[in-house]
Amino acid sequence: MKKPRIGIFKFTSCDGCQLTILNMEDEIIDIIELFDIAYFREATDKPLRGQFDISIVEGSISTDWQKEEIVDIRENSRHLITIGACATSGGLQALRNWASLSSYKKYVYPTPDIINALSTSTPISDHVYVDYELWGCPINKHALSETLVSFLIGKRPGIPKYSLCMECKRHGIPCVLVSAGEPCLGPITKTGCGALCTSFGRPCYGCFGPKDDANIESLLRHFQNIGLTQKDCMSLLDKMNSYAYRKVRIEGIK
Ligand code: SF4
Ligand code: SF4
Repeated sequence: MKKPRIGIFKFTSCDGCQLTILNMEDEIIDIIELFDIAYFREATDKPLRGQFDISIVEGSISTDWQKEEIVDIRENSRHLITIGACATSGGLQALRNWASLSSYKKYVYPTPDIINALSTSTPISDHVYVDYELWGCPINKHALSETLVSFLIGKRPGIPKYSLCMECKRHGIPCVLVSAGEPCLGPITKTGCGALCTSFGRPCYGCFGPKDDANIESLLRHFQNIGLTQKDCMSLLDKMNSYAYRKVRIEGIK
């Protein structure tokens, strides 16, 4: 059987999700045997373009050339999977979506005039059709192998969509929101990390993004009841999935 041809692409991002692929030490040999990884600049010195059965895309769309490139990748891919917070929700760089690009450029770069960037950083799904999204900052390697195997055998990937709180209950982790009064984003965040921070008694700051039907307003009201200001609440949401949490809030309020 011909191996499915894979391309792994990067836009604006820190490369962390691509590094997760390279860190799949237990699975990488099987992946190479099952798939033809034709394009992966992070790992190969001879990346090959053409048609792909699966394109895996990391990073957000932040420049004009990226807007054109993602359309080209989509046209040449049977399936397109986005990986990580940058590709699924615009990433940390999407914090500029709520501010002025010129002020960011002025404070961050010594010669801001040479920076050529869009005024927003947006998820891949704002530009082209995406078959499947893997959230996380970075993604969970088990979720990626489940997704690849699922595409190989023609089923939907079995990635849970419920909240992180369910994971805490399953592992018997005392609730840091209820028992310690710490502002935890678990109730509105997708599971995916196995409740990493909460298992150490620390609140979740939402690196797997908003779960479906997240009731953000209700959680923020609770945070204000335990003493947080509106500004504190916003800075809790304004991290790597800021754009996604704010979108859910705006849609929820409508
Ligand atoms: S600790 Fe956080 S994630 Fe866990 S049950 Fe409590 S609110 Fe939910
Ligand atoms: S508990 Fe929350 S912040 Fe910690 S790794 Fe999981 S999703 Fe990320």
